[in-house]
Amino acid sequence: ILQVHNLVKSYSSGSKNLTVLHEISFNIKERETFAIVGPSGSGKTTLLGLCAGLDRADSGNITLCGTELDSLNEDERALLRNRNIGFVFQDFQLLPTLTALENVAVPLELQGAKNAAEKGKELLEKVGLIDRFNHYPSQLSGGEQQRVAVARAFSNEPKILFADEPTGNLDAETGGKVEQLLFELNREAGTTLVIVTHDMELAQKTERILKLKGGRIVENQNSAI
Ligand code: ATP
Repeated sequence: ILQVHNLVKSYSSGSKNLTVLHEISFNIKERETFAIVGPSGSGKTTLLGLCAGLDRADSGNITLCGTELDSLNEDERALLRNRNIGFVFQDFQLLPTLTALENVAVPLELQGAKNAAEKGKELLEKVGLIDRFNHYPSQLSGGEQQRVAVARAFSNEPKILFADEPTGNLDAETGGKVEQLLFELNREAGTTLVIVTHDMELAQKTERILKLKGGRIVENQNSAI
């Protein structure tokens, strides 16, 4: 579902050019659960952003759901993202002025869904938060906010879900619930999961672990299970 070939990315700050990804190549299969691990600054978030088509590489190519990202203009990329991709962030990124239900339903409405509120409620039911549908993010715990974010990420029934430290801001118990939810959705809906994490326990639960160091792949291996 995702093919990454010889990807190079650098950032320029002032006169300096810092290469943060060096010729990265790997593939992810449909329905696979995949973790990207590595020390802080090793390029994990940059790599995830490139794979999700949020940013462009200097060279190399990425084929996502059968389409080479470089061949698309910005509008076409946005369309591909809306159709195929879900994204979950470490800091949830819910809109504070919208209720839990609106956070899930508004993107559905924007994509032209007619029964957005109904579908939003179904998704909140799925993540166990239907009784909180009218609460604002500030009235929800971190774990609850992240579950709303997962419901929103799944609203377009994505083929692939990118999660950047989805449990990074949560305590072990709430993080565990979010984790369980992601794997459940993978099993039930067949959504491919790509998770950036510092948490090796979480990484070990995925089928494959890609380890980055200094912008290079140092390991790409099947997990223990
Ligand atoms: P962490 O685990 O701390 O989130 P990471 O492995 O996700 O780190 P990245 O966020 O991808 O690492 O950053 C890789 C390198 O690129 C770092 O050295 C960072 O300082 C640099 N970097 C990231 N984004 C930018 C940017 N927009 N401009 C300049 N440098 C950047």
